[in-house]
Order: sequence, then C-alpha cells, then structure tokens
Amino acid sequence: MGTSHVIIGDGIAGSSAAETIREADPAADITVLTDEGEALYNRILIKEFAKGKMPEGPISIHQPEWYDERDIELRLNTMVTRIDATAQEIHTHDGDTIGYDALLLATGGTPAQLPVENSDAEGIHHFWTFEDARAIEEHASRADTGVIVGAGLLGIDLAAICGAQDVSAQYLMRGNAWWRYALSEEGAEIMHEAMRERDVTPVFDSGVDHFEVDDTGHVTGVVDPNGEHYEADFVGIAIGLNFNTEFLYSSDIELTDNGSIVTDEHMRTNVENVYAAGDVTYFYDNILGDQAQNGAWGSAKEQGSIAGTNMVRDTGGEEDEATFSWVSSYSITHFDFPFLSFGHPTLGDESAERTYSDTEWRRVSIKDGKVTGGVLIGNLAPQTKLKRLAREQIDVSNSKDLLLEETIDVDKFLKQEAET
Ligand SMILES: Cc1cc2nc3c(=O)[nH]c(=O)nc-3n(C[C@H](O)[C@H](O)[C@H](O)COP(=O)(O)OP(=O)(O)OC[C@H]3O[C@@H](n4cnc5c(N)ncnc54)[C@H](O)[C@@H]3O)c2cc1C
Repeated sequence: MGTSHVIIGDGIAGSSAAETIREADPAADITVLTDEGEALYNRILIKEFAKGKMPEGPISIHQPEWYDERDIELRLNTMVTRIDATAQEIHTHDGDTIGYDALLLATGGTPAQLPVENSDAEGIHHFWTFEDARAIEEHASRADTGVIVGAGLLGIDLAAICGAQDVSAQYLMRGNAWWRYALSEEGAEIMHEAMRERDVTPVFDSGVDHFEVDDTGHVTGVVDPNGEHYEADFVGIAIGLNFNTEFLYSSDIELTDNGSIVTDEHMRTNVENVYAAGDVTYFYDNILGDQAQNGAWGSAKEQGSIAGTNMVRDTGGEEDEATFSWVSSYSITHFDFPFLSFGHPTLGDESAERTYSDTEWRRVSIKDGKVTGGVLIGNLAPQTKLKRLAREQIDVSNSKDLLLEETIDVDKFLKQEAET
C-alpha cells in the first residue's frame, strides 16, 4: 500500500492538491471526499450560467473519468463529520472511517443567512454552488422584481444576474457605496452607474429589517431598517461566508474566531500531518508578513498545490518544501469596462487614487510604505507592474504619484528606493 492522502473538498483547492500529489507520487493512495453531488466545476463561471448566458457543459472541469485515469478515489455526496487526529482517521456521515497519513482540509465556506424574520422564505437565494446557480437561473428568468443585499464581489454578481435576466432590482447597501472598504465613493460611482444602466438601483444606508412573504411562504418584499418597503419576488443575499469547519470543533486544530483554519506559509496547520488550503484558511502571507485571508480562485488553486507538495514531502517524498507566496487577483466582467482587484485592497494605512475618465479609475493601498493591493477600473494594463511592486515589496512611500501615472515604470521606484 502507498502513502494515504485524504482530501476533504473537491473545489479547486482540494482538486489541485490531488493532482499535485498524484504527479509527485504515482504510488500514493488518494481519496477526495465532497458533500456535493458533482465533481470539480468552475465556480467562477456559474454566474454566467445563472445569467442565462452559458450552457452547463463548459462549466464542468472534471468528469468522473478524470479521477479514474489518475487512480484517485472520488466520493461524491459524502460529508465528513469528524476527524480524529490522534488516530489519524476521518469519519463520514454514513458511518465510514478512513485512515490517513496526510490530511488536507479544503472545505471552503457556505454563504451566511441574514439573521432576520423570514430569511429562509422561498425565493431568497444564496450563491455558492452549481445547484444554487441552477435555482437562481430558473427563478430569475421568470421574476420581474428583485432585491440584492451585500455590497461586495458576490453581491455584484447577483446584481448583474438581475440585469441580464431583466429583473428590475434594488441593490440595498449598508453604507454609502458599493464595496466601501476597497473603493472610494468616486470609484464606486462608476460601478453604481453601470448597475443603473442595467435597471439595478443602488440604495444606500439601507439593509434588511425583515422579509415579507405571501400565504405560500414565498418572498414578496423587503422592509429595510428605515421602514422603506421594496417589492421583490426574487431576492439574492451575499453577506459573507461561514467557513465549513464545524466538524473540526472537537479537534485540536487551531481556528480563528470566524472559524477559518490557521496555517503557516506551507499550508500546515498546528496539528501534525494535517494541512489546509483555499478559502477556508487564515494563512501566513509571506508578502504581507502577517496572517491573511483570500477568497479567490487562483489563490485557492496555488494553496492546494503547495499543500499537496508538502504532504508528499512530509510523508517521505523528496520534494523541496513549497511556500505560498502569491498576489491574488479577482476580476469582474459584467460591464462594458473591465474591473480588477488584486492583493489585499482593503488593507493599508494609506492609499493613492485617481480618476482618469467616466469609466477609468485606480486606487492602490499602501501599508508601511509597501503596496498591499488595489482596484483598477477601466484599464487593467498597470496590473502586472503593481503586482510586482506588491510581490517584491518595493518601497513606494516617497513615490505615491508614480503609482498613478498612466504607464507605471518600476525602475523609477527602484531608483527612488536606492537614493533613500
Ligand atoms: C458565484 C461565485 C463567483 C465567483 N467569482 C470569482 C471570480 O470571478 N474570481 C475569483 O478569483 N474567485 C471567484 N469566486 C471565488 C472562488 O470561486 C473561490 O475562492 C474558490 O472556489 C475557493 O475554492 P476552495 O476549493 O477553497 O473552496 P470551495 O470551492 O468552496 O470548495 C470546498 C468544497 O468542500 C466541500 N465541503 C465542505 N465541507 C465539507 C465536508 N464536511 N465534507 C465534505 N465536503 C465538504 C464543499 O461542498 C465544496 O464542494 C467566486 C465564487 C462564487 C460562489
């Protein structure tokens, strides 16, 4: 028998770990468990499906044969309910026990529900899985009025789905702008205008006090904390994730207060032979020099691969130790202009910002004189150089203006750095 690698979660983090392990160790026993009923699919693309713009086919990434060809055991519809790190075993909902030499936790999160009256009514959607996308597509295609709640990257997907499906929607936001932790009002206004063009109306300083329902239990409207009433037969909520770590509560694995799993930069947890990767981690960010969280596809994929390499190495393989060192990015393609956020755009003690036109804007966040992340609207060309400044932690404290030049010249920063 080969070394036994068990992976919980067949999202991009778990799947990329399985692939890495198989490439590094042809003899390993690899088991991937997921509580979903389908193998890895492209979570980024399910919004295009929900908009009614894409068939199901291209969204799937792995067919069951993919696992067969690599001799990876895939167990669908299997929920892991407990781990016993002393015995090195996991337990499933159907009473199975599986032993491991190395265990990867790649369980991601589940959308949070609003803690208000009727929040589980028919017609109120949360968005994470392909199943959710199917339900959203079906409902949005026949709905007339909608309300969206959650002024972040997933909320705007729901808003764009309403726009694409001709649902006249109100987008209720708590503050005075969309994603106000990363954008100023000026930058956010470009996004608001694009929403309005699609008949999605941003409503500020709002939220949900309770939902109204009809006799069948279907949502009919939303009342906000100011007492305003908004009609809605379709509601989309995206107010954040609850991390899927309940099954770890009885273990010694270190979790944060919000339930994410603490790892080092090699994706090791505090418990021997147990690793974590993807959205569920609170990892040591080598570039930031601090613990951090990411919710992006590319970052989850890379973390899965790093974890996979170290799982093989730590169980006797000859791989070099792998380290997660990554500037993530997340783009939005719903509008006539491109949008990209990179790194940690909500962190920082100062920022540099400029508006170039009605649809072009840039903001760069800075902490201790180094770029931590930013948001680009309209022109994504500077992203490579800005990401390099972040990755190499080049000092920009005396050259903030250079971050806003149409074309960024990294040499100018290096020269400034050398002179100080
Ligand atoms: C609609 C939408 C749009 C997005 N758009 C973008 C985008 O444009 N760009 C971008 O970078 N990112 C985007 N993201 C985020 C990106 O998809 C995630 O960051 C990424 O998928 C995280 O991968 P993961 O493997 O860590 O977790 P997940 O993909 O969440 O996978 C975790 C898996 O583990 C399973 N699981 C959980 N608990 C258990 C258990 N106890 N037992 C068994 N299985 C379990 C879950 O069901 C799930 O299948 C989007 C996300 C959504 C939902």
